[in-house]
Amino acid sequence: MKEESLRTLKGIGEKTEKLFERAGVGNLNQLLHYYPRDYDSYEQTVPLGMVRDNEKNAVCGRILRQPSVKNYNHKSVTILQLEDETGKLQITWFHMPFLKSTLKRGGSYIFRGRVSMKNGRKTMEHPEIFTIAGYDEIQGQLRPIYPLTTGLTNKMVIKAVSQLLEERSLEPEYLPEEQRERLRLCEINYAIAEIHFPSDRNSLAEARRRLVFDEFFFFILALSRLKEKTETVENHFPMRAVWRTEEVIENLPYRLTDAQMGVWNELERDMTGRLLMNRLIQGDVGSGKTILAFLSMIMCCENGYQSALMVPTEVLAVQHYESLCRLLEENQITDARPVLLKGSCTQKEKREIYEKIASGETKMIVGTHALIQEKVVYRDLALVITDEQHRFGVRQRTLLTEKGYPPNVLVMSATPIPRTLAIILYGDLDISVLNELPARRLPIKNCVVGTSWRPNAYQFMEREITAGHQVYVICPMVEENEELNCENVMDYSSRLRERMPAGIRVEPLHGQMKAQKKNEIMEAFAANEIQILVSTTVVEVGVNVPNATVMLIENAERFGLAQLHQLRGRVGRGEAQSYCIFMQGDEKEETSRRLDILNRSNDGFYIAEEDLKLRGPGDLFGIRQSGIADFQIADIYQDADILKESSAAVREILELDPELKLPQNRLLSEALEHYLERQNADILL
Ligand code: ADP
Ligand code: MG
Repeated sequence: MKEESLRTLKGIGEKTEKLFERAGVGNLNQLLHYYPRDYDSYEQTVPLGMVRDNEKNAVCGRILRQPSVKNYNHKSVTILQLEDETGKLQITWFHMPFLKSTLKRGGSYIFRGRVSMKNGRKTMEHPEIFTIAGYDEIQGQLRPIYPLTTGLTNKMVIKAVSQLLEERSLEPEYLPEEQRERLRLCEINYAIAEIHFPSDRNSLAEARRRLVFDEFFFFILALSRLKEKTETVENHFPMRAVWRTEEVIENLPYRLTDAQMGVWNELERDMTGRLLMNRLIQGDVGSGKTILAFLSMIMCCENGYQSALMVPTEVLAVQHYESLCRLLEENQITDARPVLLKGSCTQKEKREIYEKIASGETKMIVGTHALIQEKVVYRDLALVITDEQHRFGVRQRTLLTEKGYPPNVLVMSATPIPRTLAIILYGDLDISVLNELPARRLPIKNCVVGTSWRPNAYQFMEREITAGHQVYVICPMVEENEELNCENVMDYSSRLRERMPAGIRVEPLHGQMKAQKKNEIMEAFAANEIQILVSTTVVEVGVNVPNATVMLIENAERFGLAQLHQLRGRVGRGEAQSYCIFMQGDEKEETSRRLDILNRSNDGFYIAEEDLKLRGPGDLFGIRQSGIADFQIADIYQDADILKESSAAVREILELDPELKLPQNRLLSEALEHYLERQNADILL
């Protein structure tokens, strides 16, 4: 049943299937593992006199008067006055005039929705409606909230998942019984059912722990098996150190930092060595990793080999390609003939590029995942670099190596991971740390402010733009969403456009745009034809526009600290003073305390550690900190302890049975195969 289509479920036709596909759910198995991102709980009702602003409340009250229906700008608004012994509350709905006859005067109901001040009056907008008996039944339950894309509603996912849970045949438990008991891990089918529809907070915590464990466990298991294969592989691409790279370093408009020099020496040594390079460079945002990648590529080219630079987004691919071309030109390196390979190339363009790669005419390839598609046949691929990818997929590497001799591998990541964890996560890699920012860089100035400060922020942005600089504004959403009360890129950019003087060009950018459009906007921003870029977190990774000096992050409370730190890294990349304004959209004390950590420090390691301390290990359902899609439910910071347990468990099993050939590990070995297949599928998306 695993790979069966969603269409086998009742109520899912072609259209709905497409919606699910867009959210990355293409078959029943993926649906089963499409975990909620949060849970909503039906809490006890609060007296009207005690409702909390800007939060969801459930209230119970009597209806004073028959609801009235008014029309504003073609919108019909139903208005209701609710009352209890402690106070009154106004409730409104848009486009639901029929409520007028359903909600009777004198009747008592329960309403559940967000309360805010509207025209000086406490108002609940668009709440759910329950009878008192109906609410009684569900009170205390946790309702899943799924990650959604346009058109896909939470209700649709809930319906599909509950049907699937009822009808599916159970999975065999693949973890050895003895180990499962010792580690106090619940059974896998129980975990899956509870993660979707938890009975209570405790079982949810248990379910989550098991699934996090599994996620780490299979990752480490796959890694350990790979490690044996790659650890002592001979390098089939003998290389010498070359003068060219020394010249390039001499010609740079800046001096490499000592840290950069140190790592460059390591790379040179690796690539001239007898064994294959497998190295991770860990360096905070702005530490200057890109130039090291370029130098390695030049060294390969001088030795007559090909190299490929892989990145997660097309925006970043274009940017890297252009800076690489510039660097080659400045140094009159003409034999590299770099190509840019990206998903949005036409078939014809792709074919031409593939030919150039196959013939060996081109020596440098920059691109997104499309790079590893089966059609690409490399001539002499001696080096693969992945930037901002955090990790080179276990399968990606094997895919590439199937086409020739295995290449040297260099992974570059800005994610600050404590060394003990890095050793587990990157078990198969040597680690270099770039622990120094280029000199002449002024530290970013930060502030955390409430939304009432927005006019000042705009004035400040205008001033910086007048001085020739540029601004990023980050919003958590692409479009308006009635359930979530937060800023979105589309509305925000039109509002800002009106607010700013005519000479300032404001443009939106988000992940749902066509790749071509995204590239155009990024290029125009890089050329300072756009002064304010209003964007989602698509600019989070790697984007480099040193002339941008201000970043304003709206609804900062909605992002993890590590992610905010990554975002902030888009400014402070040039010599001018840069600023980051964290706009706090809620008034929670806890948020202020978390954001203050960013305010105090620009050091990614410090931030990750402090954040962990503040949250404590009990906080299971907070925002995922790493903001990296590698793990679906696990979080390397928050779940560091489970990570260590998984690692120990893998070691134990492999010590007894390195090939997973013993009968007691048969199910496990099958589960590992499934895991690898899933990984593979992800990569080829
Ligand atoms: P990251 O490590 O975040 O990928 P980049 O490689 O994009 O950082 O570098 C950020 C900026 O710093 C780029 O504009 C780059 O040209 C510049 N840069 C890199 N190394 C140095 C250096 N040693 N001195 C000054 N500027 C540098
Ligand atoms: Mg980078």
